[in-house]
Amino acid sequence: MCKSVISCYLLPQWDHLVTDMDEFAGANGVSVPRIGFGTYQMEGAECAQAVRTALENGYRHFDTAVAYDNESVIGDVIAESHVDREDVFLTTKVKGYQEMLTYDRFLAEAEGCLDRLGTGYVDLLLVHWWQRDGDMEGVFRALDELVADGKVRHIGVSNFSIELLERARDVAETPILTNQIEYHPYFTDVHGDLVAYCQEHDILVTAYSPLAEGRVVRDETFTAIGDRYGKTAAQVSLRWLIQQDGVIAIPKSSTDRYIRENLDVFDFELSDEEMRTITDARGPFRYQLLVKQGGPLHTMRGVVGPRMPEPMRKAVLSIGSAVLKFVR
Ligand code: NAP
Repeated sequence: MCKSVISCYLLPQWDHLVTDMDEFAGANGVSVPRIGFGTYQMEGAECAQAVRTALENGYRHFDTAVAYDNESVIGDVIAESHVDREDVFLTTKVKGYQEMLTYDRFLAEAEGCLDRLGTGYVDLLLVHWWQRDGDMEGVFRALDELVADGKVRHIGVSNFSIELLERARDVAETPILTNQIEYHPYFTDVHGDLVAYCQEHDILVTAYSPLAEGRVVRDETFTAIGDRYGKTAAQVSLRWLIQQDGVIAIPKSSTDRYIRENLDVFDFELSDEEMRTITDARGPFRYQLLVKQGGPLHTMRGVVGPRMPEPMRKAVLSIGSAVLKFVR
């Protein structure tokens, strides 16, 4: 039986859209477009234009968050578009600040998302990140209620370790659809067994910063691999992600050409050897040293940062992140 026929039976929500199984990944009987559209650091007219372009070019999966300050723009563009609401898979995230990780506050924050989006429901609501003293039972009770009320279709988490996932799975009645984590070819050695854990437990890995915030696009090895297929280094990186079991990716771009390019990754297949070569890439040394989570600078910041007075810490952080944006 052809794969798309199987998906029509197993995944009714998307049966009218499925033309090629490769474009969707499934977990817990739910089917999600493997390439979504990231919207971090895009606001106002720039965000509206990019989301419009993405919709026109076939994206049906969008990722936003309270923290991105663009939920209402995205909700408006979807409402005004030619695409039916039910054909769009829309994700948002409630901030993981300590004070929001309680039953009452989380419910209130989720209602805020629904108000700003104005889309009636969200397909996926994530806990953006976790704090040690958050009320795990309360937050997941709130998520379960949102699902029961039809306001949220699926629930998930972001930046969760295996230990946090275990705790969440213990208290949640609704299956956790995804763990959204940083994942790209320069970031394969930091998570330990996290990706494998998600694959074993039917939890999609949503790869954020799948292009290492644009750093992979000049990678000579990826460019050479891409040349064999008429693809760019960016497309090779995305293909490497979505060719893994249960991995989906949400690249962001505000450039029309890149928006189209990033969705055009379903008509070639990397060999096992190419997959291994890409997995072994670590990125430029300066990236490993200065930018990478888990790298020396990041570790030092974790130790020194909390010991600094708050205003100094904030100033150092914002100057530091602005400077590091230019490290390629
Ligand atoms: P990314 O998608 O890895 O990279 C975005 C950068 O790459 C932009 O500078 C973009 O440039 C450039 N780019 C995109 N496509 C390109 C192409 N084909 N060729 C050349 N350059 C290209 O980084 P990201 O925005 O950090 O991550 C993607 C999404 O993941 C976010 O937007 C957000 O939705 C999500 N995210 C989630 C978390 C979390 O904690 N859950 C954290 C970070 C990100 P232009 O925009 O100038 O075109």
